[in-house]
Amino acid sequence: MSDSVKQGFDTLKIHAGYTPAEHQGSIQVPIYQSTAFEIGSPERAERLLRFEEFGLLYTRVGNPTQAALEQRVAALDGGVAAVSLASGMAAVSYAILNAGENGRVIAAGQIYGGTYDAYRKVYPSLGVQIDTVADINDLDAVRRLIKPDTRAIFIESVNNPVNVIADVEALANLAHENGLPLIVDNTLATPYLWKPIEYGADVVVYSATKALSGHGSIIGGIIVEAGNGFNWLAGRHPHFAEKVFTFGNRNVVETFPAFPFAARVRTYYLGLLGATLSPFDAYLIIQGIETLSERLKKQSESAQTIAEYLSKHPKVSWVSYPTLPGNRYKALAEKYLPKGAGGVFSFGYRGDEREIYRFLNSVKMFSYHANLGDARSLIINSPHTTHHELTEEEKIATGIPPETVRLSIGLEDVNDLIADLEQAFASAES
Ligand SMILES: *Cc1c(COP(=O)(O)O)cnc(C)c1O
Repeated sequence: MSDSVKQGFDTLKIHAGYTPAEHQGSIQVPIYQSTAFEIGSPERAERLLRFEEFGLLYTRVGNPTQAALEQRVAALDGGVAAVSLASGMAAVSYAILNAGENGRVIAAGQIYGGTYDAYRKVYPSLGVQIDTVADINDLDAVRRLIKPDTRAIFIESVNNPVNVIADVEALANLAHENGLPLIVDNTLATPYLWKPIEYGADVVVYSATKALSGHGSIIGGIIVEAGNGFNWLAGRHPHFAEKVFTFGNRNVVETFPAFPFAARVRTYYLGLLGATLSPFDAYLIIQGIETLSERLKKQSESAQTIAEYLSKHPKVSWVSYPTLPGNRYKALAEKYLPKGAGGVFSFGYRGDEREIYRFLNSVKMFSYHANLGDARSLIINSPHTTHHELTEEEKIATGIPPETVRLSIGLEDVNDLIADLEQAFASAES
């Protein structure tokens, strides 16, 4: 990969992590639909199982189609290693658990609904307590939450659904001053719009279901390790220092010095909890990534146009698109998102719930379903669907009041999308 990191993003998204000559000259990454791989000899099995030699054994923990995807995304993000997983939730959960084991994680309160639900329902019972911070850019509030057993900070770069933009560089500095890694869910931005590792993030996670794959065809997730020298043995992560019998009585950092975080996710969480990405789905994500830049560029441009249209509409009380004049996050968007702010944002519908339902029932081109970053444009009332698990107070606190309508702008003609919204506003009022 040392050659490929010098290449441009659009070259990497087509070529990184895959060499046809190593796969019968196949131009496309083949789908290795195989449960297991020939080991060769019992002596080699011993070397593989002690991690003295690296090789394929069993698709639950590694497969050549997954590997091509992992290396490609690591190259796009500027990381050193990645682990592909069966869903974005698996990526979020494995990253939080792997960093936070038997300790605490400070995490953004304004976050994807599933992640918020897991903060309360799953991570504490697995030994990780979550300390949420209401405004992730309030650095003093984050600092006040740091305790002796705090092990990581977890944020979204661009939050779903109201586009809070995290000051990743400031948060990475704060984290590192305190011996903590910064974990960033970069699902909405994708590495095309924003590479958090360039600003100090130590681990980046994705729901590949969304814009990374971009065609509404799979569920998948990825964890990328930055390899920027974070010291897992400085004291806050005793589980990284533990001598492990299956690593030949070495710790994970001694065994995998270049990518201990990814290696530990793979050998512990993927190996033992088992959210494996199917090789076929890995292949489909690779197809999607080939057009990542083109899709995100167009979606950002169309979203900007639609956000401007909505911001002038009498039935709209607010629009969360960060590059609009007066938006609270405009300066951060200018710093971190110079290529555009992506295709997802929300707006407030000026009208009662019955009118919002009539509006949602009237759109014809926007599809009413729960996904993001698809080639098709989507619309959804987040408070009742993607974020339904939050209480009414939590919805207000996380910036998702009842009138919130979320859009994910696809690849259709922007004029047709505006015409669809216009006719839906008219039908909802009448
Ligand atoms: C959708 C989403 C997830 C969860 O991903 P799945 O692939 O649906 O499991 C996590 N984080 C963000 C920001 C998301 O939008």
